[in-house]
Amino acid sequence: MATLTESRKKALRRELEGIVGKAAVLSDPDELLVYESDGLTLFRALADFVVFPTSAEQVSAIVKLADREGIPFVARGAGTGLSGGCLPSEGGLVISLMRMNRVLEVDYDNQVAVVEPGLVNLHLSWAVGPRGYYYAPDPSSQQACTLGGNIANNSGGPHTLKYGVTTNHVLGLEVVLPDGELVWLGGKTRDPQGYDLVGLFVGSEGTFGIATKIVVRILKKPQAVKTVLAIFDEIDRASEAVSAIIARGLVPAALEMIDQVTIQAVEDAFGCGYPRDAAAALLIELDGLAVGMEAQVERVIAACRECGAREVRLAKDEAERQLLWKGRKSAFGAYGRISPAYMVMDGVIPRTRLPYVLRRVNEIVATHNLRVGNVFHAGDGNLHPNILYDPRRPGEEERVVQAGAEILKVCAEVGGSISGEHGIGLEKMDYMPFIFSPADLTTMHRVKEAFNPRGLCNPGKIFPTRKSCVEVGPAYRPHAIEEKGLAQRF
Ligand SMILES: Cc1cc2nc3c(=O)[nH]c(=O)nc-3n(C[C@H](O)[C@H](O)[C@H](O)COP(=O)(O)OP(=O)(O)OC[C@H]3O[C@@H](n4cnc5c(N)ncnc54)[C@H](O)[C@@H]3O)c2cc1C
Repeated sequence: MATLTESRKKALRRELEGIVGKAAVLSDPDELLVYESDGLTLFRALADFVVFPTSAEQVSAIVKLADREGIPFVARGAGTGLSGGCLPSEGGLVISLMRMNRVLEVDYDNQVAVVEPGLVNLHLSWAVGPRGYYYAPDPSSQQACTLGGNIANNSGGPHTLKYGVTTNHVLGLEVVLPDGELVWLGGKTRDPQGYDLVGLFVGSEGTFGIATKIVVRILKKPQAVKTVLAIFDEIDRASEAVSAIIARGLVPAALEMIDQVTIQAVEDAFGCGYPRDAAAALLIELDGLAVGMEAQVERVIAACRECGAREVRLAKDEAERQLLWKGRKSAFGAYGRISPAYMVMDGVIPRTRLPYVLRRVNEIVATHNLRVGNVFHAGDGNLHPNILYDPRRPGEEERVVQAGAEILKVCAEVGGSISGEHGIGLEKMDYMPFIFSPADLTTMHRVKEAFNPRGLCNPGKIFPTRKSCVEVGPAYRPHAIEEKGLAQRF
């Protein structure tokens, strides 16, 4: 939603061009449309300007200008976020970091790399790969998403089960604070002193400032990697196998589940070799030392068979392994074969509750007369029900949002959470009370105010302050923090 008068816009455009150059400022409505949404297309909002800085100093100058003028601003990486996090929900500036995409330094001896925030996740592994290293957090969007977006959302991926999420791999950050000041949080060493401000910043969804340099750990590639595909005729039995594998003391690098709806979409799109009639498939990856690897694979296969797998197959070579992973990692895109649109939910549950929660997901979606495909990080109980819908059918979007809310409520009720890795953004801020008390939210709000006292940096996110064009979502009810005057709805 544009918020500025034409004359003010002209003056601002001149100043922005003075900082980043004429070709790095967009304000034409047709061009702004490209930046009106992220991967969650249910929500849309137009900025007044999109700017493309190429250095931390330029980011700082832009933010100082926004601070002086009282204009909201939001950082944007690749726009693959799935919670509306990078939307300019109050207009103002979108600061795209895509031109700041260099690997600045790699210290192989200390296994540390310094990168710019617009670097695409996979490109870091490509850069260090020839020397036998890689960057572990691997969101399924890793071919497009940026390290800056990963930092903001504390992104995970299939290999989170063994290697953790982004925060476990970040040592230091250069940050432009919301008043434009440039500071360093953490550094290159593993045991920093003082408050863990890096830990605080990672996962703050772009509301604490803009990361302009990122220090990450890089890992040695494992000696051996084995990938197993297990096929089940009942989804409950596949869910039981997930717990059975981990109960044997094995820690797979990845343990992913794909249901029948998703298998059929993936097979239509890519032909990855998943049997179309299977109720569910588990993709299980083991990595580590070559010694003992065969024995671990055998134990995984035995656990799957005991849980009723009708077929268990070990990828025979790297090409087959890549094909199996292509099916998993491209599953979201494959839904395009079977539905005009989908909304990805991102709940977390204790993995022992998988059979119950998956049944509830199917019941809820059916009640709303919708379809769902599930493809998710089963090993760490991070569900991704993908609700399929057609936005052209009147009322369907509302039913999708309602079904999504009910699913997240179930996740919260079984002791889980409303987001594993996609962030709260615009999408889930009204659901925060499912898992946080008013006192919890007030504490979080105080931390936000310490970094972002004027609220200009990515406003209208995380806390229940629904505003502007963001019209979809459950019915309004005042939240405790609104009643206390800490947040406001419009
Ligand atoms: C097909 C698909 C698969 C996905 N799979 C996964 C998955 O497996 N795991 C997972 O965790 N996510 C996944 N995602 C979600 C998404 O890719 C991640 O959240 C990713 O980290 C977003 O990165 P981005 O560069 O696209 O960020 P954007 O969408 O551009 O922004 C995301 C947030 O980061 C903030 N931000 C961006 N850059 C900076 C910066 N430099 N400093 C401060 N804040 C910043 C933005 O303001 C916003 O709040 C998937 C998305 C898609 C479309």
